[in-house]
Amino acid sequence: MTAIKKRLSAILQQIRDAEQQACRPKGSVKLLAVSKTWPAERLRQLAEAGQLAFGENYLQEALDKIVQLDDLSLEWHFIGPIQSNKTRDIARHFQWVHSIDRLKIAQRLNDQREPGAAPLNICIQINIDEEDTKSGIAADELNALVTAILPLRQLKLRGLMIIPAYHDTDEQQQRQSFQKARALFDQLKTLTPDVDTLSMGMSGDMPIAIQEGSTMVRIGTALFGERNRQIT
Ligand SMILES: *Cc1c(COP(=O)(O)O)cnc(C)c1O
Repeated sequence: MTAIKKRLSAILQQIRDAEQQACRPKGSVKLLAVSKTWPAERLRQLAEAGQLAFGENYLQEALDKIVQLDDLSLEWHFIGPIQSNKTRDIARHFQWVHSIDRLKIAQRLNDQREPGAAPLNICIQINIDEEDTKSGIAADELNALVTAILPLRQLKLRGLMIIPAYHDTDEQQQRQSFQKARALFDQLKTLTPDVDTLSMGMSGDMPIAIQEGSTMVRIGTALFGERNRQIT
């Protein structure tokens, strides 16, 4: 088995262990493989091992890989900040977008999604720790944005995405960010009960995110190795 396939099975095992520890049903947490900066060949190896959902941050890089891996039925998730001139390609080539942070982007994705295509799955990104440097809406803007998005027929609201503030050593701080997100997710469910996705947890904080209710972890480094290109 190649190194990357070994890492995949180790991570899947960690996810199963964390689910069990948190008394959550087996399979309730999905793995999104975050493949930014890695060549298509690496993704193909993971796909051979059964990993079909990939997250990308940079549109042009993602489109190149989507073409190269066209023979596989992969599920593409856009997880980076979105400029409005990028929405047409995102609406056409992705199945999911995790980084919705304003109505204008949602409207453009809705209008540009091909009429015959399945609705685009979206998560609203919350700036959970109110950091100046992070994208995402403030918690108190959630209800208004949801109300405006729900009528858009070519979008399907699946839930929320967060990237907590960087707390390298402070587990309690990490946990608090996830708990805030979980509370908002529960609040969102009262507004629209069929949301099912709380996208949180990365290589450095995956088990805690699962304990606090994540349903989709976005894992890059622990799967592919250290990225050598600087990521913003
Ligand atoms: C890069 C990235 C990840 C993966 O981070 P790792 O620490 O490498 O696991 C997850 N989510 C988003 C939004 C990212 O940009």
